[in-house]
Amino acid sequence: MQTPKRMTNPVTTLHTIRSSFVHRRRQPLRQVSRRFLGLAVLLVLGVGLGQGQTAAWAQDALRERPQGVIFFIADGTGSATYTLARDFLRDQRGPGTTLSMDADQKGSVVTHAVNSRITDSASSATAYATGVKTYNGAIGVDPDTLRLGTLLEAAESNGWNTALISTARITHATPAAFSAHVPLRAQEDEIAQQQLAQGIEILLGGGRSFFFGPEEGGARRDSTDIVTGSGYGLVSTRDELLGATRLPVLGLFSSSHMAYEVDRRHTEEPSIAEMTSWALERLASADEPFFIMIEAGRIDHAGHNRDVVAHLADMLAYDEAYRVAAAFASTRDDILLLATSDHETGGLTLGGEWEGGGSGYRYDPAPIPATQSSIERFSQQYAEWVQAPETLRQRVVTTLAADFGYTLGEADVFQMERFLASRNLNGLRAWLENLLRDVMAQRAAVHWSTSGHTAVDVPLFARGPGAAAFSGSLDNQEVGRILSILMDADLGAETEKLRR
Ligand SMILES: [Zn+2]
Repeated sequence: MQTPKRMTNPVTTLHTIRSSFVHRRRQPLRQVSRRFLGLAVLLVLGVGLGQGQTAAWAQDALRERPQGVIFFIADGTGSATYTLARDFLRDQRGPGTTLSMDADQKGSVVTHAVNSRITDSASSATAYATGVKTYNGAIGVDPDTLRLGTLLEAAESNGWNTALISTARITHATPAAFSAHVPLRAQEDEIAQQQLAQGIEILLGGGRSFFFGPEEGGARRDSTDIVTGSGYGLVSTRDELLGATRLPVLGLFSSSHMAYEVDRRHTEEPSIAEMTSWALERLASADEPFFIMIEAGRIDHAGHNRDVVAHLADMLAYDEAYRVAAAFASTRDDILLLATSDHETGGLTLGGEWEGGGSGYRYDPAPIPATQSSIERFSQQYAEWVQAPETLRQRVVTTLAADFGYTLGEADVFQMERFLASRNLNGLRAWLENLLRDVMAQRAAVHWSTSGHTAVDVPLFARGPGAAAFSGSLDNQEVGRILSILMDADLGAETEKLRR
């Protein structure tokens, strides 16, 4: 484990000041880096009450006490993705169409980590879950790798019911940061074990391989089945989930991540909206306060893969899940609905210039439905096709036409034949993946600028009691701290308990 380098960033310092000022009533002081806190206190005293007005209305909102908190995290989703999804829906349904969260936009979130201006999911989710910024890769631990109490743990201590949902592996960074403490996100065997010991009522997602040994079809290094005897009822398909009534439930719908929404019809997996709806019904009928975190985990993966169709389809599925949660929240007056992202992925731009000229003002998501598959699924099929190289050419041509609406041109065929003649089948696969990325991006005239994350702010949405406290530009750790106040979650006490 490398010791992460701390970055003293004026932005962090300013936000720490505001947090410690606005939230001093229940600020989990022990969790704030002493260096930042000392500076913050000095500056608050010296600078005076410049934030006084903000503090007054924020204090009002902070007196609210929602009895149900639904926290959505759309992994790797920046402003351009919301615009793309809204424009796509307007093209399909008419010009007045909005996203389900549009009316709830309150502000934006600054996402950087302590050791990098660009965060990963582990660091940003830990900031949301614990109110403390940390280093990239950290799961529920501070920059010194010491454990930090989470909102979910504090909710459990207060007798609330809790739930985690992800379309990625349930052991992946975002859900893990709320329910486990490890110095490195890759320790998913350990994360799975910790998750099952938290008393969480509902866990739904992918990641089956981290819960079973090889004998049961899993990949745990200790070869142990950690589910049997855990008290959890296990469900593995959409139908099993919809038929389940008794809590606690562990839903593991895939050995790794769940399928992209665009590919889901080839699986027996539930959609994110179905998981959300099922979980909210169970939590409501339990008649206890609850905390649920729902991650749209694969919008990020499609950004990494620069697959605009998979990216958009997962965004639309997420919008549907938010719609379900908003409808649920509207039946009561004590539900706080909060939604944001951990960071942006892919540097998606709507518009831009193309080789061979053309206007810089072209951008149109309308042709996107021509695609019926993710690039990932194409690559998985390709891995099977290479077992029978004599039929490879035909399968590629047929699938490109059927699933992507693309007919290879003369130059494409020439290029493919060169790869086949030299038996460079890996090279052919990589070339085809890039071809599909370009074809799909060009159709809509969008651009990706990176296969990694970016540092841009992400939008923040909230409705219900306490929602006004999330207005303005907030730092990711402030979002966690505000939530802890609204939930009466004593994160400091949880941290102390963990370190005792
Ligand atoms: Zn990512």
